[in-house]
Amino acid sequence: MNVNQSAPPVPPFGQPQPVYPGYHQSSYGGQPGSTAPPTPYGAYNGPVPGYQQTPPPGVSRAPPSSEAPPASTAQAPCGQAAYGQFGQGDVQNGPSSTVQMQRFPGSQPFGSVPLAPVVSQPAVLQPYGPPPTSAQVTAQLAGMQISGAVAPTLPPVGLGYGPPTSLGSASGSSPNSGLYGSYPQGQAPPLSQAQGHLGAQPPQRSAPPQASSFTSPASGGPRMPSMTGPLLPGQSFGGPSVSQPNHVSSPPPQTLPPGTQMTGPPGPPPPMHSSQQPGYQLQQNGSFGPARGPQPNYGSPYPGAPTFGSQPGPPQPLPPKRLDPDAIPSPIQVIEDDRNNRGSEPFVTGVRGQVPPLVTTNFLVKDQGNASPRYIRCTSYNIPCTSDMAKQAQVPLAAVIKPLARLPPEEASPYVVDHGESGPLRCNRCKAYMCPFMQFVEGGRRFQCCFCSCINDVPPQYFQHLDHTGKRVDAYDRPELSLGSYEFLATVDYCKNNKFPSPPAFIFMIDVSYNAIRSGLVRLLCEELKSLLDFLPREGGAEESAIRVGFVTYNKVLHFYNVKSSLAQPQMMVVSDVADMFVPLLDGFLVNVSESRAVITSLLDQIPEMFADTRETETVFAPVIQAGMEALKAAECAGKLFLFHTSLPIAEAPGKLKNRDDRKLINTDKEKTLFQPQTGAYQTLAKECVAQGCCVDLFLFPNQYVDVATLSVVPQLTGGSVYKYACFQVENDQERFLSDLRRDVQKLVGFDAVMRVRTSTGIRAVDFFGAFYMSNTTDVELAGLDGDKTVTVEFKHDDRLNEESGALLQCALLYTSCAGQRRLRIHNLALNCCTQLADLYRNCETDTLINYMAKFAYRGVLNSPVKTVRDTLITQCAQILACYRKNCASPSSAGQLILPECMKLLPVYLNCVLKSDVLQPGAEVTTDDRAYVRQLVTSMDVAETNVFFYPRLLPLTKSPIESATEPPAVRASEERLSNGDIYLLENGLNLFLWVGASVQQGVVQSLFSVSSFSQITSGLSVLPVLDNPLSKKVRGLIDSLRAQRSRYMKLIVVKQEDKLEMLFKHFLVEDKSLSGGASYVDFLCHMHKEIRQLLS
Ligand SMILES: [Zn+2]
Repeated sequence: MNVNQSAPPVPPFGQPQPVYPGYHQSSYGGQPGSTAPPTPYGAYNGPVPGYQQTPPPGVSRAPPSSEAPPASTAQAPCGQAAYGQFGQGDVQNGPSSTVQMQRFPGSQPFGSVPLAPVVSQPAVLQPYGPPPTSAQVTAQLAGMQISGAVAPTLPPVGLGYGPPTSLGSASGSSPNSGLYGSYPQGQAPPLSQAQGHLGAQPPQRSAPPQASSFTSPASGGPRMPSMTGPLLPGQSFGGPSVSQPNHVSSPPPQTLPPGTQMTGPPGPPPPMHSSQQPGYQLQQNGSFGPARGPQPNYGSPYPGAPTFGSQPGPPQPLPPKRLDPDAIPSPIQVIEDDRNNRGSEPFVTGVRGQVPPLVTTNFLVKDQGNASPRYIRCTSYNIPCTSDMAKQAQVPLAAVIKPLARLPPEEASPYVVDHGESGPLRCNRCKAYMCPFMQFVEGGRRFQCCFCSCINDVPPQYFQHLDHTGKRVDAYDRPELSLGSYEFLATVDYCKNNKFPSPPAFIFMIDVSYNAIRSGLVRLLCEELKSLLDFLPREGGAEESAIRVGFVTYNKVLHFYNVKSSLAQPQMMVVSDVADMFVPLLDGFLVNVSESRAVITSLLDQIPEMFADTRETETVFAPVIQAGMEALKAAECAGKLFLFHTSLPIAEAPGKLKNRDDRKLINTDKEKTLFQPQTGAYQTLAKECVAQGCCVDLFLFPNQYVDVATLSVVPQLTGGSVYKYACFQVENDQERFLSDLRRDVQKLVGFDAVMRVRTSTGIRAVDFFGAFYMSNTTDVELAGLDGDKTVTVEFKHDDRLNEESGALLQCALLYTSCAGQRRLRIHNLALNCCTQLADLYRNCETDTLINYMAKFAYRGVLNSPVKTVRDTLITQCAQILACYRKNCASPSSAGQLILPECMKLLPVYLNCVLKSDVLQPGAEVTTDDRAYVRQLVTSMDVAETNVFFYPRLLPLTKSPIESATEPPAVRASEERLSNGDIYLLENGLNLFLWVGASVQQGVVQSLFSVSSFSQITSGLSVLPVLDNPLSKKVRGLIDSLRAQRSRYMKLIVVKQEDKLEMLFKHFLVEDKSLSGGASYVDFLCHMHKEIRQLLS
């Protein structure tokens, strides 16, 4: 029953094993363990040749304590493994700066700095620009706070090293495409891009020649690849810029006369301005892109920015000073670089502590002993050895785990291992499951647990000889000895009541009150179910699903239906005593679809007619869930309830709710109550559901406040999903609803699940985030778990960790499959441990960090004022960056903002979280919307939070129509919009098509089949199907974006300057928001101030 249960003695391995067609690995189980030749394993019989060299198989699979590479060098055995991690910055800096220099005559003044020295200064950033400059920068940046005071600045003295932006302008392409479209030409960050041109071989792969020079902690800074370039004008071109691309130096202080200490060309000092958001292009010239000419983003609107080429010296008319947006770290650039550098080769999991490619990069995974990043992503892959170090850094140690993640077709599902009646082999003390890190000793007769060090006997049936390296000779024949992820068939000991489970059931529970009937929902749903029931989830090629189905309709009372196959017509039983819910029938309620098809079809035909004239507007809610749960209990099975609900349940019944929406509570200490359930009844109910393995998926169709915070309690605690379709109308919303419904009903689900995360000595799991229930401090209970849901786990130290042995995680999920089979899915992951903070900062994953921080904050609003939550996030982020600055970066001016390469996007992403609807709602955001989003984010994986908080903005007409690939994205800012172009914006939930007012008539005709911009219908949600290349391309792209997301994104066409544009602009997250959220530039300044305060 419990994951933690001790295993019975192990029987002979290799009993006849059921064939699992879906896993293409039937030969696996029947294989006698001891003498088996490697063959049955096929591709898994040892490391794949192609990847053998990095690292050698022995290394990758051996117990960490004996053979794993030392933490600090694990990634660098060869260039391949290490790329992206070390040294590239140094390697690339030189050349890239060279390129830039050549491209930007405008930045001539820098020419005076000898290029060669720059290139040759690898690790040490020393010669910085003139010291005074740095100091000035400090003062200046401090003066640029979000507070609105803007310091005067030197004009375009030029960035230290040409920022990507300047290159863009040089490329001469149109303003917007220039941002990234021209990227290959060297628009961007010096390093990776410059080399990207060189050819197929990304620079990073070419080995980190200088990695060795970075062994000291203090050199952490220099190791960072250069990227974003200096952010501020006025910075000297000296070493730092080249080797420490992440330095953001502030402009010269006001107190100094412009140009005084600058190495760059002096320019007229911009006047001081009080405007916080100076310089939007739009405000300057009233038009988008085209007006900007070749230098769309710099130039007059940004007087403070360096002038590049086209905007040389003439004193500017005193525009406000601001950071050059193109000089601060760009999410787009980071994403593009990672795609270019890491998208072409599989990610092989054999090496401990490897940071995987970003979630935005397409890559294949080869399991060689650690779980795929599709299953587990960590905030850092190199964790501090001591809790003191961890506290100093303040970097949360967390893993985002998606135990049942779907894999691309090219990757095999986890193998299923059957150890027969003995069940899986486990450590006697800590109950960890056999895994590749267990170390066999005494000739193979015993094994030492890699989690608790306990020495265990190897059962005779499992015995195998060891080779000269101490590895079992059958290691590659057994998934549990060679792979990061695999499954065990569970024995009856792992089952409720010591009884193998029955197949699960689905119960469809349909609101038939007035609103549901009037909107057309009931008719639409019943019609859809007739065909959808043929697609219930099934496993491994089974001919039909094992899942049984049942039907309930309700308003103030409940109607159960007997759909037994022997009936000519369905029978209805009404239960009006909702206070004491019971199930009026057992036989005939849950049925097999194919057996009862005729009766079911008849029922679904009749339901819309039966209630067509209903006047009933009141509904109940808790009794409906209670009924479904009782029905599963009576049938002794787990299952899922699909609830289709329209209104606040105000009818007299348990769980009755009142309208308590009150926007006046926003920004008060009572705001948290808006996120809390208004009654504890639903938590009690959820607990009962979890005990029964009853997962609840809720589809809401509200016309007004329905109290999502309360209604979503049961779905949240049972591992279910909530979907919300406000003001549902069949014409407008059916595609979205039906698409979500089909996906939700068809997806594979694990039922009645328990998840336990074990760790090696020194750290332990202390906190959990996600959609689940916990009745103790270690077991995550999930009535249901599907392939979209993640559980985020935070770890804390309870002892000192060892650099040599590293740290291990093992996630064990016990669940019942859709076919009713009880299984254990195991994921293992080995991490490095470090005694130098620089190693921590070099191996962080910012996307995962943001995922964790968002979940932490979104839970925090349940208990604390929203402002407190925001301040906590800002403080933590400042502490993280200040610790890096203090301990890892090379000495440099205090006025420079220096960001770790792996975290250079932390400020921009954190700002997006801070200004999200939950933490800083705009006037148009409803209380239900906030509760809904809060609930959604809790279960999101890293890819979902990434695009949710920083939406993807794609220009549509800049790339050739023939191009099959997705156009390169641009930054989410109004500045990036050209009024002559069309853009798609998506964040995983919303999808906009923005049309510029000056788009060519031909484009308008091709896409919308109307002759002018003015004739386009604002708010349109479907593009006409037209037979021309542009229309096909755009519609194809929309389909492709939708296919990437777990929920259907409804399209909204937005015209420039139209009312709807305000909605769209809400997603331009680099800009200041209407609700008061800071712009990226302002937030970066603010963050710098916070860091400086911590350091002083
Ligand atoms: Zn153990």
